[in-house]
Amino acid sequence: TQLDEKWLQNYVDDWVTFYRKDTKEGEVASYIPILANANPCHLGIAIHGKNGLKICSGDVDISFTIQSISKVISFIAACMEKGVSYVLDRVDVEPTGQAFNSIMHLEMKSPNKPFNPFVNAGAITVTSMLKGDTPKEKLETILVLLERMIGYRPIVNQEVYQSEYETSARNRAIGYYLVETGFLESDLEVTLETYFQQCSIEATVEDLARIGLILANDGEDPNNEEEVIPRQIARITKALMLTCGMYDASGKFATYVGIPAKSGVSGGIVAVAPPRVRSSELPFIEGCGIGVYGPALENRGNSIAGMKLLKHIASQWDLSIF
Ligand code: GLN
Repeated sequence: TQLDEKWLQNYVDDWVTFYRKDTKEGEVASYIPILANANPCHLGIAIHGKNGLKICSGDVDISFTIQSISKVISFIAACMEKGVSYVLDRVDVEPTGQAFNSIMHLEMKSPNKPFNPFVNAGAITVTSMLKGDTPKEKLETILVLLERMIGYRPIVNQEVYQSEYETSARNRAIGYYLVETGFLESDLEVTLETYFQQCSIEATVEDLARIGLILANDGEDPNNEEEVIPRQIARITKALMLTCGMYDASGKFATYVGIPAKSGVSGGIVAVAPPRVRSSELPFIEGCGIGVYGPALENRGNSIAGMKLLKHIASQWDLSIF
């Protein structure tokens, strides 16, 4: 109801104000040079729930590139195109305990398939599976799926794309390794260009909240009951977000926050609070999606204030799935 929403809004406003101080503890990503232009003080959040519930607070009008959050979308798109077993035959579902762009872990497993679709090696492999022979064709699958989720066709930020392209040595090293081991299913250059473009798709915290809302409801948009993602794929995606979504801080996030989430180095986080069997005191919050933006990152590449804000909200509203 209106009253509930206003009451929740006041709380969220207070929490955003409180956690803004933590943005000072982190640093914006600079290994992709243009990302260093972000304002480290920004912090914004959007929460979308059932029955049209929407709470937005802080710096919510900013568009940012989704970076690694795109790995969730490309994974879902590949599963929808090729089938889950095809994708999981080629990419594993195990956390690495290493940085998202780690090269060290590539050789650490037998058979040496990439550990999971949310580290760069796995994500690049997944992108190579998407149909099409050009980056434009491959990206189309991702854009079409995103449009169904967020309600409009997103754009690719060309400046960020260029910046990432020009500083892509590490992702190229990963790409060449995947060629050598036979995991890449498309031309390396086409795959990398698509990957850099998907990372450069722009979104707002409200878009992330919409994505989270659909995942929270097992792939269905609760506001019109339309299936956007098949249920099985939505569930696997959430399991992967919980175990691998926050890079090598995923264990801590699962322990202290307890909900599936995926971050990106530009400072976005999409979090998913699924409905639970145990009834909550706050039924209108159940089954919601949360989008956060805070470009100041901790040393693993996750938004520092964003994580603290999510931890606080999850504990106040008892969102943990455990
Ligand atoms: N585009 C970034 C990269 O490949 C995405 C990384 C991230 O958000 N963790 O390095």
